Amino acid sequence: MDERRAPGELGPRRALSTRPGEIRVGPSRVRLDGGAFVVAAGPCAVETRDQMEQSAEASWRAGAPLLRGGVHKPRTSPYAFQGLGDEGLALLSRAGRERGLATIAEVMDTSQIPRMVDDVDVLQVGARNMQNFSLLKALAKTRRPVLLKRGFSATVEEWLLAAEYLLDGGNEQVILCERGIRTFEPSTRNTLDLASVALVKQRTHLPVWVDPSHATGVRELVIPMSLAAAAAGADGLLIEIHPSPQDALCDGTQALTFPMFDVLMARLKTLLHALGRELAAPATLPTAVARTP
Ligand code: PEP
Ligand code: MN
Repeated sequence: MDERRAPGELGPRRALSTRPGEIRVGPSRVRLDGGAFVVAAGPCAVETRDQMEQSAEASWRAGAPLLRGGVHKPRTSPYAFQGLGDEGLALLSRAGRERGLATIAEVMDTSQIPRMVDDVDVLQVGARNMQNFSLLKALAKTRRPVLLKRGFSATVEEWLLAAEYLLDGGNEQVILCERGIRTFEPSTRNTLDLASVALVKQRTHLPVWVDPSHATGVRELVIPMSLAAAAAGADGLLIEIHPSPQDALCDGTQALTFPMFDVLMARLKTLLHALGRELAAPATLPTAVARTP
């Protein structure tokens, strides 16, 4: 097919025209379809049971209804920690379940889908896989919501067309996530393109999240960029936190400490209130779990 087309001929259709259905996940059936503002927090990579339990506790306490944690890690170097795989999946889902949190993890390959659809509430497609069309086509056939990150060299049009593979393939539960693009600026890991958030919110009905952790790569910039994302109209945030960022096996420099995450959530609540939006809350815990110190 000729891709040198007139604008609109082969461009996004469903992303521009369909209003997404309800997206609800996890024990509290938290809505991800653009109503209340949603925060997903957790470490870059699942490392240990203790790390996941502490992260789940910190997320829940601060009021984030989703727990993140990568088990298959797309690392630039083959010598870097690649993730715990299925063993990590069990730790993530267990920690989420114990705190009543929905879970989100990255799927890198079609072979990982069958195992992950059972254990994870939201499947993340990473920046490096945004145009992995076989993966997108396979995910289109699942019933799980997909968080589609923008590729770091992808235009907004290419991002929406990647979403189109999911939507047209039968999965309407699509959430877009801006995670920064590669520019000439080396002082941040990527350049956070917040104009894309406002633009995509105007062009589509899909919920749009922002990942200020990968967008900046700098812990101290995560709070201000999170607030800026909410002000720009984002529907949610994907935030990396770690009980001990200096010991993290992956992306420690951008992980918030738990006290920093508390500050972020408190400021976010104030900002969202001023914007007339609510923060989605985690499930209330069963009494037995709530008493656990
Ligand atoms: C991640 O969320 O840990 C990740 C690898 O993100 P990205 O695909 O945006 O680099
Ligand atoms: Mn990471």
